[in-house]
Amino acid sequence: MTDLVACDLDRTLIYSAKAFWLETPDPLAPRIVVAELYNGVPISFLTRASEDLLLALRALAEFVPVTTRTVAQYQRVQLPGAVPSFAVTSNGGVILVDGVPDAAWGAAVRHRLSEEAAPIGEVTALLADHSAAAWITKLNNAENLFVYAIVDRELMPAAWLAALEARCLGLGWTVSVQGRKLYCVPNPVTKSAAVAEVRRRLGAARVLAAGDSLLDAPMLEQADLAFRPAHGELHDAGFTAPNLTVTAATGILAGEELLRLLTAATAA
Ligand SMILES: [Mg+2]
Repeated sequence: MTDLVACDLDRTLIYSAKAFWLETPDPLAPRIVVAELYNGVPISFLTRASEDLLLALRALAEFVPVTTRTVAQYQRVQLPGAVPSFAVTSNGGVILVDGVPDAAWGAAVRHRLSEEAAPIGEVTALLADHSAAAWITKLNNAENLFVYAIVDRELMPAAWLAALEARCLGLGWTVSVQGRKLYCVPNPVTKSAAVAEVRRRLGAARVLAAGDSLLDAPMLEQADLAFRPAHGELHDAGFTAPNLTVTAATGILAGEELLRLLTAATAA
């Protein structure tokens, strides 16, 4: 029985240049490779050592990328090694089996959505409201599962965010702010439920999970062993748990450290 390693992507394994947070002078920086192009421009990266560590980890455990990215956004990410047997995208709304969306899981999620959360239109209306136009620069529908907005954090009032969180709570939705993105996600669409399903299908002995945002918290709490970087939404909230290890490093080097921690825990 192998271990399942459920690993968030953005700001856990891969990083935009804005989130490198390197403290070394440029000539001493770690070697860095491109993990994603968007319109031909490199936008996500990991260290070269992370690539090697990830390959070694994949030889020891079942590595499952777990991301809030849509399928199309996920498919832009290039990680070393073969296409993973399982990947979770769309914050758990989609399970890819050998790169193909699993129809049974998709149907189960849509059914739970119709029963347990307000329709996406109601939440979209809260974000499309004229009063928020000053700080919401773009509003996106993610596969009709959830919505996310590109926001100006400087202009976005804390009181407006708190009111949005309260409204969403009543509608069965959760709010998460990560960098310039504000996500509103219905409660039935979770990474933790999708990872539990993958665990069941694999018959994995243990789940080791890593992530940095509020949307990762239930997955970390549910894991046998959990890891998070010393940055991001969970770090800012002081998130802790009995099964949780926090990195010493921040930014792109925390990504590398997480892979070392996951490998050590898998081999143990
Ligand atoms: Mg993340």
